[in-house]
Amino acid sequence: MNMVPSAVTPGCGERPVLRERGQREVFCGLTGIVWLHRKIQDAFFLVVGSRTCAHLIQSAAGVMIFAEPRFATAIIDDHDLAGLADANEELDKVVGQLLARRPEIKLLFLVGSCPSEVIKLDLSRAAERLSQAHQGRTRVLNYSGSGIETTFTQGEDACLAALVPTLPETQARELMVVGALADVVEDQFARLFAELGVGPVRFLPARKAGDMPPVGPNTLYLLAQPFLTETARLLENRGATRLSAPFPLGAEGTTAWLKAAADAWGVDPARFEAVTAPGQARAAAAVARHREKLEGKRIFFFPDSQLEIPIARFLAREAGMVPTEVGTPYLHRDHLAADIALLPEDVRLSEGQDVERQLDRCRAERPDITVCGLGLANPLEAEGMTTKWAIELVFTPIQGFEQAGDLAELFARPLNRRTRLGL
Ligand code: SF4
Repeated sequence: MNMVPSAVTPGCGERPVLRERGQREVFCGLTGIVWLHRKIQDAFFLVVGSRTCAHLIQSAAGVMIFAEPRFATAIIDDHDLAGLADANEELDKVVGQLLARRPEIKLLFLVGSCPSEVIKLDLSRAAERLSQAHQGRTRVLNYSGSGIETTFTQGEDACLAALVPTLPETQARELMVVGALADVVEDQFARLFAELGVGPVRFLPARKAGDMPPVGPNTLYLLAQPFLTETARLLENRGATRLSAPFPLGAEGTTAWLKAAADAWGVDPARFEAVTAPGQARAAAAVARHREKLEGKRIFFFPDSQLEIPIARFLAREAGMVPTEVGTPYLHRDHLAADIALLPEDVRLSEGQDVERQLDRCRAERPDITVCGLGLANPLEAEGMTTKWAIELVFTPIQGFEQAGDLAELFARPLNRRTRLGL
């Protein structure tokens, strides 16, 4: 890995961003399979990788005892490195057997990994070949979940980006919500949009392969997740326009996010207020229950989920926390502009990672709570620091009014635990 010195450069208007390109401590994009396979109910994710890849998704996603799993790993053995032709033949055979046994699979993702990149197995050609072979029954797409990419949430971006070229064309004026949300959250947003009179509203990804939303020059889209750079770029190539808003975390973020769509649909302000006020009040009350624990507490974010900036904005403005450093693996200035504008002025923003330097800064600051990946959490806990696993923020439904209290609780819990232990 290249070791390039850290640099502080201006970015996001006047706000400086500390950019680091050193050793990173993050999960790979295969992790996205854990939530994507639950979201798209007739899809299957076939990782083309090594035994390490198989262990990773098996332990992250757990073993389903009663249901047949909708992910697996086609393991590339050492001898496969000898011949690409063999690897392709083997892959065709595995896919043929899988689809014969599981006719309910309508969408099959071939998910690339570090080893498949190493042997230069061309999974896009394999997906084309297999799509033809299984035409009319199963569509086969491919994307990379390899650890060579930025971080684990990039797996979802790559997966949704693979779907964009397959979306049907439309001229209709529709709202598309982009990013996998827990079904309960998706249902809440669908109800709010219906009450506001915004719509039709479609979600990407849809729960069924055959229901993926159409896209065209009159599509307006809202990002529900901040890590969908490539997906957004491809949607815009197909004519869609992004509605700029903070991400829907907390009462403030959710209100502003809904407002962006309401304004585009010309919703009357009084109606907007009537529809959103009860949710705002419930969210504020739920966060207030944790405020005493969180207020004034200093929080340090290592770069991991790419959710760091909107979460820091929520914790600072609605729970009274004090973010000191907010690290993110990749900073998309446009997508995050509205959240960055709401961050306290003196927060240090950092992009990328040089883990040793960042650990030094964290130790020097001794924050009350540190948000980081699993690999850093145990050593920091051993040093007496309180940590929060960043990956939980992706596995837990946190968007929308009804989840604001749960989001605050995710940070209050480790602080409570430490108090109870008398540490
Ligand atoms: S894709 Fe790469 S980083 Fe991820 S589990 Fe496989 S070998 Fe490891």
